[in-house]
Parts: sequence; structure tokens; C-alpha cells
Amino acid sequence: MAARLKGKTILITGASSGIGKSTALEFAKTQPEDLKLILTARRIDTLKEIATEIGKQAPGVKVLPVKLDVSVPEEVSAFVGGLPQEFREVDVLVNNAGLVKGMAQAPDINPADISVMFATNVTGLINMTQAILPIFKTRADGGRGDIINIGSIAGREPYQGGSIYCATKAAVRSFTDALRRELIATRIRIIEIDPGQVETEFSVVRFGGDKAKADKVYEGVEPLTPDDIAEVVVFAAGRRENVVLADTLVFPNHQA
Ligand code: NDP
Repeated sequence: MAARLKGKTILITGASSGIGKSTALEFAKTQPEDLKLILTARRIDTLKEIATEIGKQAPGVKVLPVKLDVSVPEEVSAFVGGLPQEFREVDVLVNNAGLVKGMAQAPDINPADISVMFATNVTGLINMTQAILPIFKTRADGGRGDIINIGSIAGREPYQGGSIYCATKAAVRSFTDALRRELIATRIRIIEIDPGQVETEFSVVRFGGDKAKADKVYEGVEPLTPDDIAEVVVFAAGRRENVVLADTLVFPNHQA
């Protein structure tokens, strides 16, 4: 695994917490020679702390923390255009940034919540994809790279009170499938990993900060840890080039 990640540059969105943070730490843990990590999110101070943590655990790994809001196309293109030479040849994009806002029955959903969920979970992921694909296509070693999209079980099994979030993740799924077909003749791998319940900041935000309510919904289910998903992401990126984990659902045992 480490050998296949040797020299790779991995770009992770939403790397300041939860699954994104764990994914950064998991890549660093494999300690391949000359690994480079670009960690992005809006909370730059947290990213810098994570970079310091990686620096202690895996001093050979180079880390670039960057403040980035994926929902703002101009920010995304300025970020990609301004990448330092050493980090420019991105090999793997992990489109992980995502959020949920204001769970409510459809008639009561706040229009601002609808906009922010689509802008982040769908448009943000597309912004990043559009910005990175030209790097993959024009690289000296012949048009390759991985896009790993973090979807959700919610994109397959919509639930009451979560219609907009579920719709965003269904959109991610459709976009990912179409993109894979568009790029079928290339060496670019399009991968989707769909988590079930994972214990992160997200799991409580989802219930308006009400942890007791969150616990009740998942009574009897031991949630996954962010590391469980991070391990699958790193595994997918570390397969030999002809192997694509196109569509992987990962949920805790007993989750209905
Ligand atoms: P967290 O809330 O812990 O992490 C979400 C990350 O997204 C944060 O790093 C946050 O960083 C970042 N983010 C949010 N909005 C933006 C934005 N506009 N621009 C850039 N970064 C942004 O939740 P998870 O780790 O659980 O979520 C990660 C992904 O996993 C999401 O796509 C989520 O939908 C998905 N998922 C989660 C599940 C769960 O049960 N936890 C289940 C299934 C899927 P910052 O605030 O610093 O910008």
C-alpha cells in the first residue's frame, strides 16, 4: 500500500474535523516516501493544528493547510491556480466537505438551509472536481488521478425530515456515476464511498445539537468512527491502478 502512495499528493476537502481529519491522519500513517497532503476547510487554525500533529507523527510527510470554502467557485479556482509548485501535481482529490442544516419536514425547510446544503455538498464537490480534472488530464505521466467522493447512505435511502440532505447526496451519486462514464476511456478513477452513521460533529449538528435525540434515533447501533471511513478511503487510493472501488457503502452493523 505505502509503495503505491509513494510520491503522491493528496488533496482533502473538509479536513478540519471528522472523516476528513481522520483521512489526513490515516494517509500520513502509511508514511510512504515523499507523501504530500493538502488539507482544506474554512477553519484554518484547526487545519494548522492538524498539520502540526502530522508533523510530529510522520515528519516525512509534507502538509499544506489552506483555508478554502468549496462553495465559492472563485475561491476554488484561485486556490488551485495558486498551489505552490511542490503541491501542484495533485494525484488524489478526496471530496469530503459536506454539511447538514436544519432537519425539518419538507414544508418547513428554511430556504437558506436548502441553498447552503446544495452549495456545499453538490456545487462545492463539482467546483473542486472541475478545478482538479485539468491537472489530472495534462500531467506529464499521462492523464491519471483519483477522485474520491464521500456520499452517504442518505443518497440511497432517503428518510423523513432529511429530504434536502438526502437529495444532495443522491445528486452526488448521480454526478459521480455520470463522471465515471464520461472518463471511462482514461486512467482517471472515480470512486464513491458512502458512509452510514459515523460519530462526528455532523452527527449531533444534524439533530440541531440535541445529542440525546441523536442517540435515540440510533438506539442499538454503535456508530462507525471517522477512522473506519478513513481506512476505506486510503485503501481505495492504494489499490493498483486497474482496480476501482467504484461504489462502496460502509455502515455499522445493525444500522437499518
Ligand atoms: P464534520 O462536520 O465533522 O466535517 C465536515 C467537514 O466539512 C468539516 O471539516 C468542515 O470544515 C467542512 N466543510 C463544511 N462546509 C464547508 C465548506 N463550505 N467549504 C469547505 N469545507 C467545508 O462531519 P463528517 O466528518 O461526518 O462529514 C464529512 C462528510 O461525510 C460529509 O460530506 C458528510 O455529508 C458525510 N457523511 C457523514 C456521515 C456521518 O454520519 N457523520 C454519514 C454519511 C456521510 P469547516 O467547518 O472548517 O469548513
